[in-house]
Amino acid sequence: TIGMIAVDQGGHVAAGTSTNGLTHKVPGRVGDSPIVGAGAYADSQVGAAAATGDGDVMMRFLPSYLAVEQMRSGADPSAACKTAISRIKRHYADFFGAIICANTTGHYGAACNSVDGFSQFFYMISNSETDAPHLMSVDCF
Ligand code: ASP
Repeated sequence: TIGMIAVDQGGHVAAGTSTNGLTHKVPGRVGDSPIVGAGAYADSQVGAAAATGDGDVMMRFLPSYLAVEQMRSGADPSAACKTAISRIKRHYADFFGAIICANTTGHYGAACNSVDGFSQFFYMISNSETDAPHLMSVDCF
């Protein structure tokens, strides 16, 4: 999945996802990516989030919505992302997934669930402070 969050100078946010889904999916499967609150969620009063991973598991927890609601309650983007991952982890310790979060001030973060072969998640940042996109990473937990 490609997940994107955009924040403009006025603090308006948008989020979106594009995916080819999971391998070996059944025809007609609708994963998490197009489901508002699961694949992505945006609220210009708060911020936005976008998720990737085991959609059939993750969509049950609306991780993008949860992360945005965490930011609404005052969490910084990294903490909000971690809460969304933790919520799923509590029920599915071995799920494969990650989430990115950004708030209306342009602060951002990401989190991922640590499983065999997946200990770091990479994402790109582009803003007015950098003349080119920056590759960032976060350690999964
Ligand atoms: N979340 C996507 C899906 O389950 C897959 C992915 O993120 O790669 O359809």
